[in-house]
Amino acid sequence: KNLKKYFPVTGGFFKKTVGYIKATDDVSFKIKEGETLGLVGESGCGKSTTGRAILRLHEPTSGEIYYKGKDVINASKNEMKELRREMQIVFQDPYSSLNPRMTVGQIISEPIVQHGFMKKGKELEDRVCQLLEKCGLARYHINRYPHQFSGGQRQRIGIARALTLNPSFIVADEPVSALDVSIQSQVLNLMMDLQEELGLSYLFISHDLSVVRHISNRVGVMYLGSLVELSSKKELFQDPKHPYTRALLSAIPVANPKTKKKQIILKGDIPSNVNPPSGCKFHTRCPYAEDICKEQVPEFRKLGDEHFVACHLAK
Ligand code: SF4
Ligand code: MG
Repeated sequence: KNLKKYFPVTGGFFKKTVGYIKATDDVSFKIKEGETLGLVGESGCGKSTTGRAILRLHEPTSGEIYYKGKDVINASKNEMKELRREMQIVFQDPYSSLNPRMTVGQIISEPIVQHGFMKKGKELEDRVCQLLEKCGLARYHINRYPHQFSGGQRQRIGIARALTLNPSFIVADEPVSALDVSIQSQVLNLMMDLQEELGLSYLFISHDLSVVRHISNRVGVMYLGSLVELSSKKELFQDPKHPYTRALLSAIPVANPKTKKKQIILKGDIPSNVNPPSGCKFHTRCPYAEDICKEQVPEFRKLGDEHFVACHLAK
């Protein structure tokens, strides 16, 4: 609720703070139990920062975070340890997020040992093998090292590691973006199967709209640190209300060459989120911008049942 994460920008000889990168700038949303909320937007729009701030991997600048009613920001050390067990993350790059000097068995068992759930031994080995198999990898992989696996297999290991402590919520930060397209759907389908089997909830971050469309129940669109639209997947793709969402959707290629689709080309570059434009941050690129857009920040309004949009003109 009203989540902000600002990073200081330093300059000059004394490295004084001269401004702030407003990576996540007053973002509010809910994620329901068992659902996937997709978060899309161009790179640098604050998706990853938002995902990490929710887990307090980046300490939020301000705002509130509740997990099943528990106050995450004001959690004590012990409460936070328990919350960390329940809320996990899968990173984008399976090449750099796995320690190359550790075997797969060590990588996956590390959180279990660290949290003191099991000691090293047969029981732990069985648990790791079970997790490997759940993620589509055979038992004999347990003694191998990350470099001996393909990108898709490494992401399966990353997912297995995220599952070791039986979490119920996972932030998936571009989990398939580094993979070949042919492998992407395998990993996405694995994530969907695991969700059903284990009752997981996902915050699924991606810049790829077709990936988000495949996996999400609801979708949020971010621009320059702000959430500009949030709705069910169906409505977002069929009847997008925010001009930015429309432009993003118009950029998806259509498989049928006979369908004519008007592409909306946005003028200009994405402005800096150190000094974002006044009023509606999108006004410098919006084809419909009016005077009010430069002056007033649009409220994140409810348009339909579950449809929210931050635009003065959206109806
Ligand atoms: Fe465009 Fe104005 Fe709507 Fe912003 S508020 S998206 S500038 S029409
Ligand atoms: Mg990112």
